Amino acid sequence: MSAAQAERFVRALAEANPAPRTELEFTSPYTLLVAVALSAQATDVSVNKATATLFREADTPAAMVALGEEGVARHIRSIGLWKGKAKNVIALSRQLLDRHGGEVPADRVALEALPGVGRKTANVVLNVAFGAEAMAVDTHIFRLGNRTGLAPGKTPREVEDGLMQRVPADLLRDAHHWLILHGRYICKARLPECWHCVAREACNYRDKVLWPPARSAAK
Ligand code: SF4
Repeated sequence: MSAAQAERFVRALAEANPAPRTELEFTSPYTLLVAVALSAQATDVSVNKATATLFREADTPAAMVALGEEGVARHIRSIGLWKGKAKNVIALSRQLLDRHGGEVPADRVALEALPGVGRKTANVVLNVAFGAEAMAVDTHIFRLGNRTGLAPGKTPREVEDGLMQRVPADLLRDAHHWLILHGRYICKARLPECWHCVAREACNYRDKVLWPPARSAAK
């Protein structure tokens, strides 16, 4: 995909949703970090349900450590991988207290050194909490980058690097949201809803689905 085409693609998403935001509920960099750490292999809806009660009891690293692993587990049992996640939430909270004065560091290396925090989580926190131009590549963005030709790559890192290069500078801050939301609700894994996709003209996908299934079947 050419640079001009990539720009048209992302601008189309931007115009359709000028003020995008993450669907995870949070009130501070710390609660964002915990919510993102809990969201691996879980939907944002299920994480929001768990954190609604968890953050009522503990929304700071000190309160989380005081709540303890069992206490965290009580709130998050409904989401996938809850055992390991409860352990990581306590360990990362302890590390924030020990090394960062209880604050979430605005620094990739320090973030990725926290238990259970990888590059994707660090990118979300850097982007959403600190306004950095960072691109968190989840399963939706990985698929979309490859399917549309926007940023093909064999690994999430390759797609991330491609997007960082191709997305126009003035759109980089919010591009992560536009692409995730587009992948989640329109450019879906099994059936991309190309028939009402605002970026269709700029998309290189060869097998566009131009009619909803019922109409396709009727044709
Ligand atoms: S036209 Fe279809 S494949 Fe291309 S971005 Fe839109 S929904 Fe995805």
